[in-house]
Amino acid sequence: MLKIIPISAFKDNYIWALHDRQHTVVVDPGDAEPVLAWLDAHQSSLAAILCTHHHNDHTGGICELAQVYNVPVYGPRNEIIPCLSHAVSEGDSVEIAELNLSLKVLDISGHTGGHIAYLISGSTVLAGSVFCGDTLFGCGCGRLFEGTAKQLHHSLQRLAQLPDDTRVYCAHEYTEANIRFALACEPVNAQLKQRQVDARALRAKGQPTLPSTISLEKSTNPFLRCTEKEIISTLHKRGLTDNSELAVFTALREWKNHF
Ligand code: ZN
Ligand code: FE
Repeated sequence: MLKIIPISAFKDNYIWALHDRQHTVVVDPGDAEPVLAWLDAHQSSLAAILCTHHHNDHTGGICELAQVYNVPVYGPRNEIIPCLSHAVSEGDSVEIAELNLSLKVLDISGHTGGHIAYLISGSTVLAGSVFCGDTLFGCGCGRLFEGTAKQLHHSLQRLAQLPDDTRVYCAHEYTEANIRFALACEPVNAQLKQRQVDARALRAKGQPTLPSTISLEKSTNPFLRCTEKEIISTLHKRGLTDNSELAVFTALREWKNHF
């Protein structure tokens, strides 16, 4: 039985592990130590490493893991990733024979210049799971480090166009803080209020708020709701005069930086 489980790293990173007990693939191992400990505890062997972007909290453990297990390392063609063996970009597929898994690569730049996502495709029970790194977060999105607001907006729109039941596996537990910001943008969204209740309950039990779904993000994540009246009116009160979707998105991203 194939499963996806989170391995916690640093303060709030998740290293997602796809496994059938015998074989495991990890996404964005910023630290090797918790991955090695998990593999050891579960008597599983590493089959491949997937990387979404070059930031150290996503790449710091790659070389050590690749050396211990001698496995392929997939990562974005347009970034410098340590110990990369397979550079991939939009349109490429990653085949993991050990798990009989196929993942499609999507270009989703903005947080970094070459950021990619991996979408599990085919007929496996895990099909429709997307690993989107630091681009789309639970109720939020990544900061703009290298790309433009236009690029990040476009990338988020691409993810939003995935089927509603697509499961969103992002790389950080930021959901509760993001919900507080979302409520400042849109105080009367009932689904958003419910999401806050649900997220608090999960965190109180020490559980992740992830994966979320594209459907939940579309109904609660302000960065996917730039045409909503209430959000536009909140931004008008803060001085925004341009109603275009990109202007609203840019203003939200800017406000969130110092919220
Ligand atoms: Zn990052
Ligand atoms: Fe990160």
